[in-house]
Amino acid sequence: MSISDSPLSSLKSEKRLFGTLNDGSKVDKYTFSNSRGMRVSVLTYGGIIQEIIAPDRNGNLSDVTLGFDNLQDYVSRSPYFGAIIGRYGNRVANGRFTLNGVDYQIPVNDGAHALHGGPEGFHTKLWNARQIHDAQAIGVELTYLSPDGEMGFPGNLQVFVRYTVNNANELRIDYSAVTDKETVVNLTNHAYFNLAGAGNDSVLDHVAWIDADRFTPVDQTLIPTGELKDVKGTPFDFTKPTAIGADIQAEHEQLKCAEATHGGYDLNWVLNRPGDLAAVAARVTDPKSGRTVELRTSEPAVQFYSGNFLNGTLAGKNQLTYSHWGAFTLEAQHYPDSVNHTHFPATVLAPGERYTQTTIYRFLVR
Ligand code: BGC
Repeated sequence: MSISDSPLSSLKSEKRLFGTLNDGSKVDKYTFSNSRGMRVSVLTYGGIIQEIIAPDRNGNLSDVTLGFDNLQDYVSRSPYFGAIIGRYGNRVANGRFTLNGVDYQIPVNDGAHALHGGPEGFHTKLWNARQIHDAQAIGVELTYLSPDGEMGFPGNLQVFVRYTVNNANELRIDYSAVTDKETVVNLTNHAYFNLAGAGNDSVLDHVAWIDADRFTPVDQTLIPTGELKDVKGTPFDFTKPTAIGADIQAEHEQLKCAEATHGGYDLNWVLNRPGDLAAVAARVTDPKSGRTVELRTSEPAVQFYSGNFLNGTLAGKNQLTYSHWGAFTLEAQHYPDSVNHTHFPATVLAPGERYTQTTIYRFLVR
């Protein structure tokens, strides 16, 4: 275990062994804490955000992100809890795309489609890590070299992901990547949040606001149809703060596409201020505790997913179970399946260019 202080001595970091993979590789857990009680832990396996401790309006601390206490569970049965998603977040129809006249096939892992970069996406990789800090923030830089052809994607892709925490209760994620062959990239993080504390029932009473007038409707298998639809008059209108549960069971086919029996949210919202890192793009509040998360991002869109596939059988940290609708995600990203829709913002990366994406989750009380 090593402990170091940043120049602002209120920011602390700690590194400890989290577990050992089957091939003997060690997985470390880096923990960062600030002067306001916020604490974030990140694993070198999958670049997973393993915990986020945040205060409520009375200063009580709770872990607001879902996850596991042990490595084995992350390896064997995690629905992407907290993980870095790559090379290609969300779905690629039939796992297929064409670039410069060449057809590529990603191994499928979601019915007929490829989800979150294929079965061995970045969430399964062991990342190199080094601690970083400046005057304002402390954290870790993770790096991974994805070889040419991995999960079917062209080009050696060198990926950098920096997680930092500051005294403004911001968890900032800076991603960048370079390639030696033209390829496609769409990175995100798959943290699940429950602001009442992970394992505390559903998030249906959480109030969400998303600065998006449009979303990308999907077919029954969650592949975008290519249209952009107005949220007005639909259960997808979060332009005014609305309880997540208010319309989640409405008779709307897009809610049923997400989950046939009970319905749920699992769609891509097109942000009104794409690429504007200064603008709050989404905000979710737990009215009981007051805990709130604000999203800012350089990305054009966000996948808002209401944990529709959690079902109360998965025991997470502290043996707490995660119920249906027991969390939400705010996955800042390019639109799903952009590789197959030329009118969606492009996700192509060429040699000599640098892919960058920045997403900030700020924790506050309201
Ligand atoms: C997708 C869901 C999927 C989930 C996996 C989300 O990004 O939109 O459809 O079930 O990831 O945990």
